[in-house]
Amino acid sequence: MEESGSADAYYQSVIQRYNDFINPYLARLMAFAGFGVEMKAEGCWLWDHEGRKYLDCLGGYGVFSLGHRNPVVIKAVKDQLDEIALSAKTFFSDNASLLAEKLASITPDPLQYSFFCNSGTEAVEAALKFAKASTGRLKIVSTEGSFHGKTIGSLSTTGRPKYRTPFEPLMPGVVFVPYGDPAAAAREIDSSTACMIIEAIQGEGGIQVPPPGYLVELRRACDRAGALLIIDEVQTGFGRTGKLFGFEHDGVCPDLLTLAKSLGGGIMPIGCVMGTAEIWQKVFEVNPMAHTCTFGGSPLACAAGLAAIEVLEKEGLVERSRILGEVLLEGLKSVKAQFPEIVADVRGRGLMVGLEFAMDEVGELVVAQLMKRGVCVAYALNNPRVLRFEPPLIIEKESIDFAVKAVEESIGETAELLSALA
Ligand SMILES: *Cc1c(COP(=O)(O)O)cnc(C)c1O
Repeated sequence: MEESGSADAYYQSVIQRYNDFINPYLARLMAFAGFGVEMKAEGCWLWDHEGRKYLDCLGGYGVFSLGHRNPVVIKAVKDQLDEIALSAKTFFSDNASLLAEKLASITPDPLQYSFFCNSGTEAVEAALKFAKASTGRLKIVSTEGSFHGKTIGSLSTTGRPKYRTPFEPLMPGVVFVPYGDPAAAAREIDSSTACMIIEAIQGEGGIQVPPPGYLVELRRACDRAGALLIIDEVQTGFGRTGKLFGFEHDGVCPDLLTLAKSLGGGIMPIGCVMGTAEIWQKVFEVNPMAHTCTFGGSPLACAAGLAAIEVLEKEGLVERSRILGEVLLEGLKSVKAQFPEIVADVRGRGLMVGLEFAMDEVGELVVAQLMKRGVCVAYALNNPRVLRFEPPLIIEKESIDFAVKAVEESIGETAELLSALA
């Protein structure tokens, strides 16, 4: 795509196929927002069809914690590809056993077993089934603004009516309480409750950080009622928040832990739910096949998972997330101080940071300005006022400075535009 005429023809042909064969409404939205075609990805950088380079500050909503195309993970997957790719299902898989062992070793003791699947929503589905089967109860407590996935079960617990309403009636028995309010949750967690499902930080909900001790109080309420605590770390897991897992900020341990996004090292899709021996006994003792997943725990995906955790540990990325997260947070706070009438809030933990605007519609303009300056971000699915920053944990300080400068300029230019219109 050297010459811009042919780059544009290429771009139009891709949009046309999206329009004709994938989703014309989505195609229109993406084209309107000015999204190009992704052609190449390396480390923290993305290239589009015009050869333009972008700093990836979204990181696939947490998928690319190791950056794009991490060489260690690629090698592990390539080597595995020359042996066995997908499981024949009749034999044991060495890789699955090794990854499960590794996961048990890096999580608190009560979490012993792993069930492997391919995505976040599948991990949540499994967790909900395990909670119901092992407690014999029906009621599920979730939170407003939460995101747990879009398949029927997970969607039933996703706290956004916009996604749920068209598909109702969904799974019965789910109630929603405000996020960050332990008393409201405790009132709903009773002797009919199978579980409470909660994100350590709400991601799609707009990077909502709960007050300190929130998870402790939820843990206590669940214990009192004999209900299970599911912590959904599909997005917050593996160092995103500056600790290996988000629940460590409160020093609690869930009964069921859902994982996905970054577990595959940005190379393979993989999801996982971890749980206690007691839960596994109740779910699987009578029927070892009570829950299954054809592609789950494939040798390829588990090779990626093992390599990803190895890189995370060897490169000290959890600590890096904590330290560079502070740099990003402070940088964006200084932008807020410059534009107090436009930026309402800056918050986050580790390299999971949100910038909230004081009014609607600004986000869209600022995102466009940022793209122009070579910085890729997005707003939260459940909360368009919030810009999300979830860059790879391998990001350099200079790149964070570059992103913060771009945010400053983009908001400045948007502010000028707004005052010219006013
Ligand atoms: C992304 C996400 C999911 C859903 O994962 P998919 O792989 O898209 O199904 C579930 N929970 C949380 C917290 C997420 O961020």
